[in-house]
Amino acid sequence: MKSYEAFAEFKPDIMIAFEEALKIIAREPVRLGTENRLLHDACGMVLAEDVFSDTDMPPFNKSAMDGFACRRSDLDSRLEIIETISAGDIPQKRIGKGQCSRIMTGARVPDEADCVVMVEHTEADGEGYIRFSGIKTAVNIALRGEDIKKGDLALPGGTLLKPQHIAILASVGCTRPKVYRQPGVAVLTTGDEIVEPHIKPSGTHIRNSNGPQLVAQINGMGAVAGYRGIVGDTPEITGSAIEKALSGSDMIILTGGVSMGDFDFVPSALQENGVTLFFEKVAVKPGRPTVFGRKGDVFVFGLPGNPVSSFIIFELMVKPLLYRMMGYNFKAPAMKLPMGMDFSRRKADRIAWTPVYLNNDGEIMPADYHGSAHIHALGGAWGLMGMPEGVFAYKKGDLVDVRQI
Ligand code: AMP
Ligand code: MG
Repeated sequence: MKSYEAFAEFKPDIMIAFEEALKIIAREPVRLGTENRLLHDACGMVLAEDVFSDTDMPPFNKSAMDGFACRRSDLDSRLEIIETISAGDIPQKRIGKGQCSRIMTGARVPDEADCVVMVEHTEADGEGYIRFSGIKTAVNIALRGEDIKKGDLALPGGTLLKPQHIAILASVGCTRPKVYRQPGVAVLTTGDEIVEPHIKPSGTHIRNSNGPQLVAQINGMGAVAGYRGIVGDTPEITGSAIEKALSGSDMIILTGGVSMGDFDFVPSALQENGVTLFFEKVAVKPGRPTVFGRKGDVFVFGLPGNPVSSFIIFELMVKPLLYRMMGYNFKAPAMKLPMGMDFSRRKADRIAWTPVYLNNDGEIMPADYHGSAHIHALGGAWGLMGMPEGVFAYKKGDLVDVRQI
């Protein structure tokens, strides 16, 4: 295995190191467009500008409890109730010495009051009067601007919008946030043996699990998948499907047809369509025959055919680029956790990514996994464990790199 940088003239059929492949992908420039989206339609998009608050939050001193607004210095006295203030009401009376106003949660607290006594901490003391019966009370007033002040940064550009961010945008009146345009990703699956999932496989068929899996992975991260069907294993069919997909897509992902078989036409069909290939083989397990290239602004990945390989290489290599195309600086949720058992492998020539789950002690347990077609192993997995090149074994208790999936 040689370093990519070592080649003045790049030969894509040379196997490159996994980290090298990540670097090659990471250095490719991306072009980002923006659009304004309705707030209700913006979850999963990436904010393209800083958003500032147009108001103090809360906009007035707001009661946090149902109770009585009064002066703390009066808590020892019998208190006359001078009005009732509901949420949305403007207080009509000034609270004087020995007085209070009945107040509801969310209502505006009169300026003269410095605390709201919970209704549970009071008792009636004659008609129209109450008395504080608690030992002490919190202030129970959310002060104007204590969450955020008018003009403060509410959300920075680059935020991947989750439901809680949608609430923040709503609260500061940003109803049409400017977000990055969603990349469109064409998904092509190859293989004469592949049939769509509604067909019950007969003698030589394999159901297409990569296509639906990729569509779900792409849509699940907020990009837009366009499924283009199953492509037959001939250079002509593969070439024309690629040609069609290249126009109007921001990225094309193919699965299968990238290995060394007699009918693996994807790399050559890509090149014939003018796609520059940056690598064709990566020292990673699973996923050695992974192809990455570009034509103009369109990125192309050829992923291995086996569904676990396709899943893992999407996670490791495609996702960071796709997020970058969405304007988001993605960092894999990686951590170090202790092994729950001894684990070893016979060959250590490539970094390996193994499906793992957590045992009851929060330790890492490699899933019962017999290879990259074994999607059922992935079904119960919590994450992927990385075992670097040259490492043959882990002992129970060793801290290992894992990322949640
Ligand atoms: P290939 O890379 O085309 O040689 O495919 C490698 C393996 O993955 C073969 O066993 C294929 O049958 C399988 N495979 C390829 N494409 C898919 C797919 N879309 N869904 C499920 N398995 C597939
Ligand atoms: Mg194939």
